[in-house]
Amino acid sequence: MEAKYYSKKGNGIRCNLCPHSCSIQDGRFGICKARQNQGGVLNALGYGVISSSGLDPMEKKPLYHFHPGSRIFSIGSYGCNLHCDFCQNFEISQSFPVSMPPLRSYQPSEVVEKARVLPENIGIAYTYNEPTISFEFMLETARLAKSKGLLNVAVSNGYINPAPLRELLEVLDAFNIDLKSFSDDFYRSQTGGRLKPVLKTLVTIRELGKHLEIAFLVIPGLNDSLAETKAMVSWIASNLGSNTVLHINRYYPAYKLKIPPTPEERLVELYEIAREKLAYVYLGNLHGNEVGCNTICPSCSSTVIRRNGYHTVISALTREGRCSSCGYGPIVVM
Ligand code: SF4
Repeated sequence: MEAKYYSKKGNGIRCNLCPHSCSIQDGRFGICKARQNQGGVLNALGYGVISSSGLDPMEKKPLYHFHPGSRIFSIGSYGCNLHCDFCQNFEISQSFPVSMPPLRSYQPSEVVEKARVLPENIGIAYTYNEPTISFEFMLETARLAKSKGLLNVAVSNGYINPAPLRELLEVLDAFNIDLKSFSDDFYRSQTGGRLKPVLKTLVTIRELGKHLEIAFLVIPGLNDSLAETKAMVSWIASNLGSNTVLHINRYYPAYKLKIPPTPEERLVELYEIAREKLAYVYLGNLHGNEVGCNTICPSCSSTVIRRNGYHTVISALTREGRCSSCGYGPIVVM
């Protein structure tokens, strides 16, 4: 499948899908290894290649303020345009379509049909690995899904250029974007990317009015400074609004990084800092935590959604997603 968003550059090709702007000679791959120059044509190798799928709780994405308690058909492929030593999903994100045994390739219509017949399913989530490197498949599937009345959700690192992002935004309904740190040095040294393009993605999603939640994986000693978190939440509040949902997630050793899991006390400290500026802050990857699970009305402090793991009980919301005690909101998209 020929890729979109590339241009000819001398004897090679420049891929314009993400901020890496890879220059790719004939026969070679981009940094994501999901796009290859084949005789002067950029091919999207991951088109229709699905590594895993499942009917997940929306809360697993995580999306806490978008159709709470619903289920969504989730699909993933292989590969990523960032290369984080701490990747929690490295088995598929750091494997590449080209290195995998030949797999059956699916058509968008097959995925949409499957999504349509799954009981209680409300849409399709593009997740597990970095979905935007399978841009063409994601876009075509999302367009078809939308035309059939399904919702589209993306879980992404946000490392995508503005033009393809805007094309996706025409058919995507909700995003969870990883904000891995508020330090460009961290992005460069730990992920191979840069901070600024991710911030640009967040602003663009907000400007175009699509539902947005942010995930921040806290790694001890690497991105857990109080000052950096203060700067991050201040930026979020100023540029995206104080009602932006932030998930502060616990890191566990994975892939190449072996340092111990984030101490719970540190997570709670960062939670308290974030709550000074943001109305909706949650703690993730923790078990049995008392704080950071439920959704509290910022106006009257009623608990409007109770959560225990992925078990969600809507306790005080109207059908429009407003607080049923005081009318504040909408707090969530229903
Ligand atoms: S999508 Fe892949 S090939 Fe294209 S610029 Fe990004 S890393 Fe390079």
